[in-house]
Amino acid sequence: MNDHTLSDPHAPAAPVGATIALTPTGCEAAPLPSLAGLTRAQLTDVLRDAGVAERELRMRTTQLWHWIYHHGVTDFGRMLNMSKAIRASLAERNSLARPAIVSEQVSRDGTRKWLLRMPPVDNRDKGAEVECVYIPESDRGTLCVSSQVGCTLNCSFCHTGTQKLVRNLTAQEIVSQVMVARERLGDFPGGQPPEDGGLIPSGEGVRAVSNIVFMGMGEPLYNFDNVRDALAIMSDGEGLSLSRRRITVSTAGVVPQIHALGEQVGAMLAISLHATNDDLRNELVPLNKKYRIAELMDACRAYPGLGNARRITFEYVMLKGVNDSPAEARALVRLLKGIPAKINLIPFNPWPGAQYECSDWDAIEKFSDIVFDAGYASPVRTPRGRDILAACGQLKSETEKLRARARLALED
Ligand code: SAH
Repeated sequence: MNDHTLSDPHAPAAPVGATIALTPTGCEAAPLPSLAGLTRAQLTDVLRDAGVAERELRMRTTQLWHWIYHHGVTDFGRMLNMSKAIRASLAERNSLARPAIVSEQVSRDGTRKWLLRMPPVDNRDKGAEVECVYIPESDRGTLCVSSQVGCTLNCSFCHTGTQKLVRNLTAQEIVSQVMVARERLGDFPGGQPPEDGGLIPSGEGVRAVSNIVFMGMGEPLYNFDNVRDALAIMSDGEGLSLSRRRITVSTAGVVPQIHALGEQVGAMLAISLHATNDDLRNELVPLNKKYRIAELMDACRAYPGLGNARRITFEYVMLKGVNDSPAEARALVRLLKGIPAKINLIPFNPWPGAQYECSDWDAIEKFSDIVFDAGYASPVRTPRGRDILAACGQLKSETEKLRARARLALED
């Protein structure tokens, strides 16, 4: 077992607003490959390699799946309906390790931000680091997951865009973000929530993690196959059991993949729109030079399953003096005509060196009123976790800065 990469459920509770290191950061020996986050087909292959007979493979795959995803076990010894021989053979070749929680920050408003280190995929890989944010509300808990390490899109207002793409996350790495969150929040059967006073929704049938949004680092539609496989695992009713209607994939507008997302994945769609004309959108979201607004809107109108019960969310970041005038609010309403939509107005989260400011509250309210009067729900997304720098990309760069500082201190 590769215990040093497991997040420790008995770790001390984080004081609100504090950062703690939960696990050692070094990774000494080449770890055994983990089964946490694998597809059914991959688990079947693992069982075959472990010596399970062909005629038993189906049943054993179902059992293994259930232990990993329903019970969330991290120890082969607990899989009591499997023979000792199979358990031993599995443990010799594999682990059930999940990403390590390198740091956890808990905001005054209950938002939690984790920096996760993935187990290395090969000898040259140091273990990708991604951020993952948990946003609790009274009746739901939303986990914001990453699909890539870094990003290629270079949106001018997004901090992640200033960090180069390192690589796509595997389906396993995407799913394991959910598993780490479930474990830390006490969401697996028999689990205990952390006793640090942070809000975690509870009650009959309420899950700590009930919703997933692909709004962390990366462009999910540039990592389509892995996102598709990850969603199949997350939404499987015998495992993590997250309904596809509670999983939202957010894209900057990779038009050729939008139809496939609806047809093959069935996730809810969110579009990072941010501007109502091509000139401005080219500047804010350079991907627009490839796929123009008109094409993007056509793809939205044709999104499989679209209807009043399955609306598309349009995200619109509020940038002072850039895209926040009443005329632009009216243009937005015209643009979305005929599309069952929700509009999410996001106050811009500033970061060091950003060339934008967040719109004034007055401007946001006026904008929101125009959109609301046109018949759209237009919640202004309350900034969550501002005290722990929850804006896109900030935790990773903060950690990199701290490391650089630590290195400098050593050199002194
Ligand atoms: N690549 C995907 C998902 C990642 S970004 C996409 O573009 O949709 C998730 C959301 O956060 C997007 O709507 C993005 O535009 C928004 N965002 C990025 N940086 C931001 C910032 N500094 N302030 C507010 N929203 C931001």
